[in-house]
Amino acid sequence: MSNISRHYLQEKRKRMVLVFICPKTGHQFSSKDYSITENRGVVVDAQGNRTLDAKVVLDAPCPHCGEQHAYHVADLACPFSAKP
Ligand SMILES: [Zn+2]
Repeated sequence: MSNISRHYLQEKRKRMVLVFICPKTGHQFSSKDYSITENRGVVVDAQGNRTLDAKVVLDAPCPHCGEQHAYHVADLACPFSAKP
């Protein structure tokens, strides 16, 4: 693996594309323009499932309705919840 592709993979891991659902129109869209806020770390629920207790706030307007939505990480079908 070259240095360039290794660097690319690190960048990709830092800010991956997530799939969001617009709460107004119900349409899906993907974006990597978001910030993670209110990160309280990984929590374990009664079933022993690990989830990240944080919010994801869009940095760019929704392509469907133009608003900047905010989501709880648990509401996203995203890789965060799979990580310890
Ligand atoms: Zn929207």
